[in-house]
Amino acid sequence: MSSAPRQWSKKSLAAQALGHVDPVTKAVVPPIHVATTYLRDPDNQYSSGYVYGRPDNATVREAEGVIAMLEEAEAGALLFSSGMAAATAVFGALDPGDHIVAPTVMYWALRRWLSEEATRWGLKVDFVATDDLDALKGAVRPGETKLVWLETPSNPLWTVTDIAGAAEIAHAAGARLAVDSTASSPVVTRPLSLGADVVMHAATKVLNGHSDVIAGALAGAKADDFWARIQRIRSGNGAILGPFEAYLLMRGMRTLHVRIAAQMANAADLARRLTAHPAVAQVLYPGLPKHPGHAVAARQMTGGFGTMLSIRVAAGEAAAIRAAARVGLWKRATSLGGVESLIEHRASIEGPSTPCPPDLLRLSVGIEDADDLYADLDQALRQG
Ligand SMILES: *Cc1c(COP(=O)(O)O)cnc(C)c1O
Repeated sequence: MSSAPRQWSKKSLAAQALGHVDPVTKAVVPPIHVATTYLRDPDNQYSSGYVYGRPDNATVREAEGVIAMLEEAEAGALLFSSGMAAATAVFGALDPGDHIVAPTVMYWALRRWLSEEATRWGLKVDFVATDDLDALKGAVRPGETKLVWLETPSNPLWTVTDIAGAAEIAHAAGARLAVDSTASSPVVTRPLSLGADVVMHAATKVLNGHSDVIAGALAGAKADDFWARIQRIRSGNGAILGPFEAYLLMRGMRTLHVRIAAQMANAADLARRLTAHPAVAQVLYPGLPKHPGHAVAARQMTGGFGTMLSIRVAAGEAAAIRAAARVGLWKRATSLGGVESLIEHRASIEGPSTPCPPDLLRLSVGIEDADDLYADLDQALRQG
């Protein structure tokens, strides 16, 4: 596909989506391949490598190439119709009876799926505070635990787990390590280089960055049997990303590095200013030296500490909900990672068994003017 010279940086390669030029027209933006079926050769072969649209698609492959490059994934990357489809394909590649260890604080819909659906298929799941490596070590069962799932920083407390430390523990027990790296992005953290076997992204979020595509990605360290099984699951379950979405995602990823740098600078600025705000009891952001995960984050995140932070409103839950109701520039909505800043009262969406404190507001920081973002929050919080 691409003959991009290896010496160019990831930022350069991403900006040009690996520099692929259409061989027929010389277009610098490749066409979107929409065909569901492909011509068989007279000798009954498929020399192009494409047979049918459910297992594979050329536009999807191009976007996968960008993600594999960013994650330095030897096995390559696979795109799915959503982040949940990508994550559940990893669990689907396990066998009934296999034991999974996952974080107590993690993306809520996946936590619920693990406890309510995965268990119906014979998977055993334990949730543990993975940021405490001793607790993780105590939770893995050598020979029985087949997968340790991490999310770092994790929703919505931005808890940080030591990926290299967790990889050692997982591998010593004979388990694989998978990392939901959505909140970090491949620009900031590369879990495969820290020992993870699989990295997952809700590409819906910062990878696409424009809140207009639902997509999920996996990148694999090794093209082993487990990876091949995940590939078969995507095809068998019909979970591949559509070509139009793959195109939009690739367009989004061309600006990933500049977007995330701007978003992280805004997030760091807001975290610092909100720490001093009289209506804010606590700011949860791995970039703050007081955050319990700061030291690990400083080691395994480069260039910044992500685009997400949460605040705990001093006057409690009702005041938090009122503050979210009063913003103008910030948009009151779920999701994260886009160029527009979003605010959300998480406990309302996660329900009664959430580990999320009721006074917490989650902030997904976009690329707007930092002074505007702060002024809008300030007036919303000051009214009490
Ligand atoms: C959004 C999200 C998911 C799920 O992704 P979808 O594309 O919505 O299915 C998984 N993990 C994290 C951390 C997320 O933010």
